[in-house]
Amino acid sequence: MQILENISLAEHTTFRIGGPARFFVEIMTEQDLLDALAFAEAGRLPIFVLGGGSNLLVRDSGFDGLILHLAITGKIERDGNLFHVPAGTDWDALVLHLCERGISGMECLAGIPGLVGGSPIQNIGAYGQEVSQTIHAVRAWDRERKEFVSLSRDDCRFAYRESLFNTTHRNHYIVTSATFALDPAAKPNLSYADLRNYFADMANPPTALGVYNAVREIRHGKGMLLVEGEQDCRSAGSFFKNPIVPPQALGPIAAALSIAESTIPRYPAPNGNIKLPAAWLLDQAGFHKSYSLGEAGISSRHTLALINRGRAAYADIAGLRERIVGTIKDRFHITLEQEPVEPVSGA
Ligand SMILES: Cc1cc2nc3c(=O)[nH]c(=O)nc-3n(C[C@H](O)[C@H](O)[C@H](O)COP(=O)(O)OP(=O)(O)OC[C@H]3O[C@@H](n4cnc5c(N)ncnc54)[C@H](O)[C@@H]3O)c2cc1C
Repeated sequence: MQILENISLAEHTTFRIGGPARFFVEIMTEQDLLDALAFAEAGRLPIFVLGGGSNLLVRDSGFDGLILHLAITGKIERDGNLFHVPAGTDWDALVLHLCERGISGMECLAGIPGLVGGSPIQNIGAYGQEVSQTIHAVRAWDRERKEFVSLSRDDCRFAYRESLFNTTHRNHYIVTSATFALDPAAKPNLSYADLRNYFADMANPPTALGVYNAVREIRHGKGMLLVEGEQDCRSAGSFFKNPIVPPQALGPIAAALSIAESTIPRYPAPNGNIKLPAAWLLDQAGFHKSYSLGEAGISSRHTLALINRGRAAYADIAGLRERIVGTIKDRFHITLEQEPVEPVSGA
C-alpha cells in the first residue's frame, strides 16, 4: 500500500472538477483498507471513500485528509443464483458479464458509470430497475464497530436514490464487496416506454444482451453514457433528484404555469406521495438543454445533467445550482435536492 500526496481529484471525477487530496491511497485488498484506516487514525485525518467519482462534486480546495480509492478487484464468483462481486469492479462490466450469460435483472442499469461499491450507496436506478431489486447482501467495514459486517438487502433500507449509506449511516460503512441474487429464468425488463418503443418492431422478445445494448444506445443519445471527449459527459449524471411531494404540491405549480393540475407529469411514490420529474420542472422554469452560465451549463442532451463546459470550477457549478434551486423554489414552491455527494474534510 502506497500513500500518495497532493493528488488532483479532478482527475478522479467525471465532472473533472476538484482540488487536491492531501493524501490518496489505492485500496486493492481488505488488508490495504485496514492499513489505510490505521494511517488515517494515527494522523487524525478525515477520510473519504472514492469509487469511480461519477457522483461527486469536489470543491476547489480539495480534501484535507485521506482519500481511499476503493479499487478492490477480482473474479466474479458464482454460487448458484448468487454472484459475489468485489467493490472495485466496474459497474457496467458486471452488467455486461451477466447479460452475456443471458442473465436478466440488471440489464436496464447498463452504462451507469462507477464501481460496484458505489452502486448501493444511492441505490442506482434507471429504465425501470434499481440495484436494490437484485442486491442480496453487502459486505462492509463498520467504522464504529471496527469489524467487517454483512448487511442484508433489508438492512440497507433502500428507497428512491437512498439507502442507510447516504442517510442515517453516512460515512459509517466502507463497502468491500456485494452479493447479487439473480434469477436465471427471469425475462429482461421492458417496463420503461423508451425500451418498449426501441423493440416495438422486433418479432422476437429481446435477450438480456439486446436490452443491455439498447439501454447504452438510448443513454448515449441522452449524453448519459461516458464517452471520452464528449462535453456532455463532464457531469455527474442527473444533478437533481426527482422531488417526492404530497399531491397538494401540484397546486402552486399549476397556478404558476396557468395549467390544470391534471396535466402535470407525475409518478406514484410511497405513502400517497407523488414523484415529479425534475427535468420537467427545470424546463418549465426556463432551464433548457444547452443553457449556460459561464463555464457551467446544462447538457445539450439531458435537462437534468449539469455539465462542466470546459474550465468550470466548483463555484461555477454551485452558481448554476443556486440559480436553478432558487428559481424552482420561488416559482413552484418545490425544493430540489442535489444528487452528487460533496466530500468535506471538516465534516
Ligand atoms: C453520465 C452519468 C450517468 C449517470 N447515470 C446514472 C443513472 O442512470 N442512475 C443512477 O442512479 N446514477 C447515475 N449516475 C450517478 C453515478 O454513476 C452512480 O451514483 C454511481 O453508482 C456512483 O458510483 P461511483 O463508484 O462513481 O461512486 P463515487 O462517485 O466515487 O462516490 C459516490 C458516493 O458513494 C460513496 N462510495 C463509493 N464507493 C463506496 C464504497 N466502496 N464504500 C462506501 N462508500 C462508497 C462515496 O463516498 C460517495 O459518497 C450517473 C453518473 C454519470 C456521470
